Amino acid sequence: MLVDSHCHLDRINLAPYDGDLAAAVSAAGERGVERMLCIGIDMNNAPDVVGIAERFDNIYASVGVHPLDISDSLCAEETLLALADHPKVVAIGETGLDYYYSQENKIAQQESFARHLRVSARCGKPVVVHTREAREDTLALIAEHGDSQVAGVLHCFTESWEMAEAAIDMGYYISFSGIITFKNAEALRDVVRRVPMERLLVETDSPYLAPVPYRGKKNEPKYVREVAECVAELKGLSLGQVAEETTRNFDALFNLAG
Ligand SMILES: [Zn+2]
Ligand SMILES: [Zn+2]
Repeated sequence: MLVDSHCHLDRINLAPYDGDLAAAVSAAGERGVERMLCIGIDMNNAPDVVGIAERFDNIYASVGVHPLDISDSLCAEETLLALADHPKVVAIGETGLDYYYSQENKIAQQESFARHLRVSARCGKPVVVHTREAREDTLALIAEHGDSQVAGVLHCFTESWEMAEAAIDMGYYISFSGIITFKNAEALRDVVRRVPMERLLVETDSPYLAPVPYRGKKNEPKYVREVAECVAELKGLSLGQVAEETTRNFDALFNLAG
């Protein structure tokens, strides 16, 4: 069994399924992708992602505000805490820092990330972290506001081994997307080789970033299999071993074991 640890199911293209999300979920199941974490990006879509998790036994949700969706008003800690208090909400985020797409609101991004980390520590649900070209600040905020017992995941990881290692030392997991299958991603594939299997997750980040050979098309959870196959090749493991270990990691991180 594979788990897609990060997907935006409220945004995927359902045209091939006549608009039926249940059909997309079973198409994933037919390729061995049996569970998913549906990610919130702001307060507007929180009811949507929680609603999807309520509708499907095998789908969980996260709630939070993406660093590129902060706009003017930050989300209050108490609001986030209230949203997180739902049995199918297993994580806080996505949150984090993105200096690649947005430099001008760095301070607001940092304040928002700190709030998410504090909420995570308070409710005991791990954070889903988006980080791009903000290595030092991401690690510093995690160290200052995070709880290493609760920890989290650096999702769609594209940064250096040094950053991955520092996060792993703070109890974090590293999640890889279809980017690892891209032709020009040799440096990132080296990071995959170095991340210990017991801290590695796989994701699609659908509808974005479809893996080779679907690159450029709309992504969906069933393609997490291609990401896992790439990890298997890089690690010299079977697809079954990667599926088993990444599923165990998902359960351990999000407190779903047993
Ligand atoms: Zn992201
Ligand atoms: Zn995302």
